[in-house]
Amino acid sequence: MVDAKRVKENIQRMTSKVASTATGKIQPHKHCRVCFRPIKLSAEPRVCSDQACTDRNSRDERNQKQMRIWMFVFLGLFAFSFIGPIVLRMI
Ligand SMILES: [Zn+2]
Repeated sequence: MVDAKRVKENIQRMTSKVASTATGKIQPHKHCRVCFRPIKLSAEPRVCSDQACTDRNSRDERNQKQMRIWMFVFLGLFAFSFIGPIVLRMI
């Protein structure tokens, strides 16, 4: 059987939670990009103090940097395949 009082309480709790979020009672915060735990807004890089998260983040960042370098290399090659023949013809 559905307990009407409890349902009412639940709704009240939910709405009050929503209201408190809307009015900004919850401190502004960020989430760890690895484990999504709430962290301080000033936390930089965006990870919690957990060593595993720090390691994972630095590894991901390194991967990203490497990826960017490769993208530039390929972009450069791609551009060169267009510009190269023109430049060579001018010489
Ligand atoms: Zn974390």
